Amino acid sequence: MERVDVAIVGAGPAGVGVGLALKRLGVGFRILERHTVGASFRRWPAETRFITPSFTANAFGLPDLNAVSPETSPAFTLRKEHPSGPDYARYLQALVRHYALPVATRTAVEKVQPLEEGFRLTTSQGPLEACFLVWATGEFQFPRQALPGLHYGQVRSWARLPGERFVVVGGYESGLDAACNLVALGKRVQVFDPKAPWARATGEPSVDVSPYTLERLQQALATGRLELVRAAVRRVEAKGGSFILHHTKGAVESPTPPILATGFGGGLGPVEQLFAWQKGHPILSEAADESTRTPGLFLAGPGVRHRGTAFCFIYKFRGRLPLVASAIAERLGVDSGPLEPYRARGMWADDLAACCTSRCAC
Ligand SMILES: Cc1cc2nc3c(=O)[nH]c(=O)nc-3n(C[C@H](O)[C@H](O)[C@H](O)COP(=O)(O)OP(=O)(O)OC[C@H]3O[C@@H](n4cnc5c(N)ncnc54)[C@H](O)[C@@H]3O)c2cc1C
Repeated sequence: MERVDVAIVGAGPAGVGVGLALKRLGVGFRILERHTVGASFRRWPAETRFITPSFTANAFGLPDLNAVSPETSPAFTLRKEHPSGPDYARYLQALVRHYALPVATRTAVEKVQPLEEGFRLTTSQGPLEACFLVWATGEFQFPRQALPGLHYGQVRSWARLPGERFVVVGGYESGLDAACNLVALGKRVQVFDPKAPWARATGEPSVDVSPYTLERLQQALATGRLELVRAAVRRVEAKGGSFILHHTKGAVESPTPPILATGFGGGLGPVEQLFAWQKGHPILSEAADESTRTPGLFLAGPGVRHRGTAFCFIYKFRGRLPLVASAIAERLGVDSGPLEPYRARGMWADDLAACCTSRCAC
């Protein structure tokens, strides 16, 4: 049975980011990826762009918001401020190549069995044992679909959707992205959301709509082809080739399948039972995002949540990745000093009181 110090599952920004930190420490690891590096990003709708801007400000202690290591910058690699999904996958691929990260692609982890010391993984390419396991499988490939319709995550290009009139269920980032793209193509769109995220202003970017999207929303509203409705869609009924959406203020007919922008996530597959859960979220140690139920198992990526705050943006969860690497290094007796650049450049999110409660003064 082959054994590695650390198995990282998933080659998105979280998995690649942990790999980069471990590489710096000289800790042995392997990244196991079901598809290809950056697979989730390759599946974004063609028109979708990053809402968090990229800018090469690294040298002044402000790493590019979308970078996963202190010395790299998607803005520099891609020459773009708002990369597309495939662009960002190219950035991740460039990191893997430049730093020679060991990634096994086309390797799906199907089963995880905790051992007295470490884990036994059953993968599509055979078994593997690891002393530590970092779960970084993201959320995009696990759509939340409570109603019949076409989930945002299934759309490859808005331009290829047939129809002139659309109803979007969900009015946060993905719902507004769908609406803005469809309106830009000349379509008429209604967006339903009972919480009216487009009107929120709390100062927390995981709750408020981004400035990038708000600017696009103003342009879309100016066309007169976009309507934002503060109501919850409860039920969808297929009727004679069209769809009736019953919502809390009445009903609306749509000639096209409802676009479901109802979010992603909700499961951790083979490791779900290895975490304790509270209100739908895995309980993690505040020190290093380790399972409180299974020592040696760490979570990396947008599923991390502390003190009610979601670490769902790359610039948020990347600050936790060196903490995972550092905790593993400590247990292996390896000096974590080489991780200092993460701390020096603001990519070390161990002050949860500041991360989770600070808001803008004005
Ligand atoms: C439309 C959209 C726009 C977004 N815009 C932004 C933005 O502007 N800025 C920002 O910061 N964030 C943005 N996000 C969020 C961001 O994309 C995610 O937080 C990020 O992709 C999470 O990274 P990850 O590495 O955890 O997961 P992923 O990027 O999803 O990577 C997970 C990887 O795990 C692999 N995998 C899954 N299961 C297995 C398995 N069992 N075995 C092996 N491999 C497996 C997958 O194939 C995948 O490659 C956006 C998300 C969406 C959907």
